Amino acid sequence: MKYIIADLEWNGAYSKKAHGYFNEIIEIGAVAFDDEMKPIGTFHRVITPVVSKKLSGIVRDLTHITQEELEQNGATFDEVVQAFAQFAGDDAAILTWSNTDLLVLMENFTFFHGEPTVPFMAYYADIQPYCQMRMGVDMSQQMGLSRACEQLGISAEDSALHRALDDSRLTAKVFTCLFDAASFASYVRRADEDFYARILYKPTVIHDIDHPLVKRSDLAFSCEACGANLHRKSKWCFRSRHFCADFVCRSCRKAYVGRVQYKQTYDGVEVRRRLKEKEKTPPKTEAKAE
Ligand SMILES: [Zn+2]
Repeated sequence: MKYIIADLEWNGAYSKKAHGYFNEIIEIGAVAFDDEMKPIGTFHRVITPVVSKKLSGIVRDLTHITQEELEQNGATFDEVVQAFAQFAGDDAAILTWSNTDLLVLMENFTFFHGEPTVPFMAYYADIQPYCQMRMGVDMSQQMGLSRACEQLGISAEDSALHRALDDSRLTAKVFTCLFDAASFASYVRRADEDFYARILYKPTVIHDIDHPLVKRSDLAFSCEACGANLHRKSKWCFRSRHFCADFVCRSCRKAYVGRVQYKQTYDGVEVRRRLKEKEKTPPKTEAKAE
């Protein structure tokens, strides 16, 4: 397997065809490695945008790419994709830092080819969570590339311009520092039908209490203090993506709020339950006159 660390730059513009905002790729940069992480090549191309020739201010400021450069050196999306496919070969694992670039790539294939499948991608891995895990950084927040560089003592100065090739090189520096074949294997996924279905799946929260997946047993709570079954005192209402109701313990008189959330994910339904004791209302103090 070949590992290809890729980075994209794109220009956001309104598109009638996309019925909204479309992130059109204008640059692809990549570094290829063999399965022992020996560098075996780089790729860099710019694409002349067709949806909007005008680059957004953010893109110009961040990348310093100019319209002239795209018009003079740019090729079409299809030409660049074909060149990339040759570069990648047929067993490439495409690696990106967070899956944003993957989503933009899929968005572009949907726009130009009618389906999100990325033809040159046999496998895919998001190396951001992998690197974060290897560095032992708390997983509750996503670590940015610049923070990873800082912690690993990698200078990010050379790629201050946010150009695709420099950024992919920088990502590669971080990745090669942390790469270990055995632990990385489980992060690499085959880009098959299930892979795309999973990425495109939009989890939904059930908001109808009579939905067949809502089980009565999930809606019952017991007292945290004495273990008795709680008595529900109010109707269920749906608030901030949860079913909520007031409960009281008939044996120890403690009052609670019960919250239950049903989330339909690609792998099935996830139920989250939380019981919180109600704070006793503090004795009213007299309002001070202003
Ligand atoms: Zn109780």
